Amino acid sequence: MKRLIRVAGSLLLIAALLCGCVPPPGETAEPSSTLEPSPSPTEETSPSPELSPSPTEEPSPSVEPSPSPEPSPEPSPEPSPVITSPAFTGDRGRKAPVFMYHAVSDNVWGLEQLFVSPARMEAQLEYLRDNGYTGVTFEDFPLSADIEKPVMLTFDDGYRDNYEELFPLLQKYEFKVTIFLITNFIGGNIYLTEEQIVEMAESGLVSFQSHTHTHPDLITRNADQQREEYTKSAEIIAELIGKTPVALCYPVGSHNDSVTAVASETYQYTLTTKHGYWREFDDPLNIPRVRVNRDTSLTAFIKHFG
Ligand SMILES: [Zn+2]
Repeated sequence: MKRLIRVAGSLLLIAALLCGCVPPPGETAEPSSTLEPSPSPTEETSPSPELSPSPTEEPSPSVEPSPSPEPSPEPSPEPSPVITSPAFTGDRGRKAPVFMYHAVSDNVWGLEQLFVSPARMEAQLEYLRDNGYTGVTFEDFPLSADIEKPVMLTFDDGYRDNYEELFPLLQKYEFKVTIFLITNFIGGNIYLTEEQIVEMAESGLVSFQSHTHTHPDLITRNADQQREEYTKSAEIIAELIGKTPVALCYPVGSHNDSVTAVASETYQYTLTTKHGYWREFDDPLNIPRVRVNRDTSLTAFIKHFG
């Protein structure tokens, strides 16, 4: 019987890892909380006031008097008709792989694979810098021709260790990354604070984009509820850092065609947890990523650039 339970638990854990980012206990009633052997449930499962919908998180109604669902007349970044760079390899454009991370810490309090150690993070950044890669963000598109080897590093959920552990490394290696914020969780005990977000945004090294307002499973929400998640999150980020987000990362990768259609009213780019190497002219509303886990060695990381 015990063995059966262990096997079932292992299968659930594998399923959780495969299906996308699994936020830690504390975000929502996540299945992950039952799978982890040693998180500190007392700390994480009792939601602090900041972690539940709170009136203080409401965006000011005066931020955008007319929240147009279409911030841009061009919902997708069309390729420039003139392609002159020798780095172009075809009409899909340059390879611009998007890597997916979550926490950067050796203090593992949730699903272990979601915590990349700062030492490994640094080794990866050092490799990228030493080999001529440029960290780009969605604001850099269309990419200028002199960026020969673009790469995107993305961090889901907006954990506080992204400031404490990752940010100093970004400063050291002068590398730009993207963090997807769950705006209702900003300031929660394991999440970035407003001050940290502003400081990172002002450094020019971090682009803050949306991971929705409350991290729901979007396919279980109707179109109006989805819109609310998208627009509220966009308004809060815009109010905080003065820049409207253009990209949305689906919570746990969950989406379907109608979710994507509604998201495209607000965002030019949507990111999945599907594995793949994106190129700059590929579908901006179905961006695959490459997962980097705690056990991803530098050798395994480098293989993605072969
Ligand atoms: Zn997430």
